[in-house]
Amino acid sequence: MAVWDDLVGQAKVEEQLAAAARDADALVTAHAAGEPDPEASTMTHAWLFTGPPGSGVETAARAFAAALQCVSPDRALGGAPGCGFCTGCHTALVGTHADITTVAAVGAVVRVEDMRDTVRKSYTAPANGRWQVILVADAERLNEKSANAVLKAVEEPAPRTVWLLCAPSIEDVLPTIRSRCRHLNLRTPPVEAVADVLVRRDGIEPETAHAAARATQGHIDRARRLATDERARARRAAVLKVPLRVHDVGGCLKAAQELIDTATEDANQVAEETDARETEELKAALGVGPGGRLPRGTAGVMKDLEADQKRRKKRTQIDSLDLALTELTGFYRDVLALQLRSRTALANTDVRDAIERIAHDTTPERTLRRIEAVLACREALERQVAPLLAMEAMTLALRD
Ligand SMILES: [Zn+2]
Repeated sequence: MAVWDDLVGQAKVEEQLAAAARDADALVTAHAAGEPDPEASTMTHAWLFTGPPGSGVETAARAFAAALQCVSPDRALGGAPGCGFCTGCHTALVGTHADITTVAAVGAVVRVEDMRDTVRKSYTAPANGRWQVILVADAERLNEKSANAVLKAVEEPAPRTVWLLCAPSIEDVLPTIRSRCRHLNLRTPPVEAVADVLVRRDGIEPETAHAAARATQGHIDRARRLATDERARARRAAVLKVPLRVHDVGGCLKAAQELIDTATEDANQVAEETDARETEELKAALGVGPGGRLPRGTAGVMKDLEADQKRRKKRTQIDSLDLALTELTGFYRDVLALQLRSRTALANTDVRDAIERIAHDTTPERTLRRIEAVLACREALERQVAPLLAMEAMTLALRD
């Protein structure tokens, strides 16, 4: 297994990254031997990865980071960097490599204080003598202030520092930043490729894999979750009933409340799974036994963790609502496809009856306005409008 195996349907991007990783390796080897830089290197210090949700933008950046840190002895025999097995690759992929720093948005923005810490780190030499990798997971959420904090560092990084920025599209990134990066664009993987990977790697039944890949339109993580998680299937089924329940104001308000409740449950479930474990791990690191008291001066560290957990819970809720909106958009897109007699295959074949009924009873203009209402709701969430208000405005706008 090489580090690239998690990329689905991205042959061109993979090829470019593998070439850059090989050249990066040649550079490290030359430096270690006191030789001059090799000529014609495809390695560069700032990369911008873009692609639609689910195309694996961050997966690609992380795979590249792993290849840069690969220390496999096979390479002396001509093997390519990115073996997937050595300590360099492994710790990079699981997120514990000392020379890879990941920075992500907290809420709607990447905070300027996080960015300043990261910039400071970017000027230090890598501990293992290879590359200091800085991965910015949500580069579209850099505001003016945090973008200004990184500008100089991206333009003139330390000799062994590599910036990997991720965003949905190039237009989402401030021009000052994107003009300094080499750009790689990932595409939505074909449904077939996603289904194939679910079968091959996750051992999912072909039929289930195809249904999940089709329903999520090539979004690999969502497809996997849908194929393996009973709760995810139940949640999706509930969301796809919303279009049938918006006949009157009462039904609309109830549907909105239920969307919120489900998202809150999702967030609680994630919190349950991770918070207790993280807290125990931190306590163990601080030398506290089970049920023991915190040593003097460590309460602040615990508070920071709790604050992070609280923010994550809120973010999970918003992500879950966002997913529901994606599913609703997909539903109405199918309705529109039928109304316009388009030849594209329906994504939500499991609710074909409902789609046919609504397509028959309404007009394409109406469907377009409904899609707009769903998109407006997403924008409202981004503007941090109270989630329940945003959902209510949407379900009321979906009303017959
Ligand atoms: Zn390796």
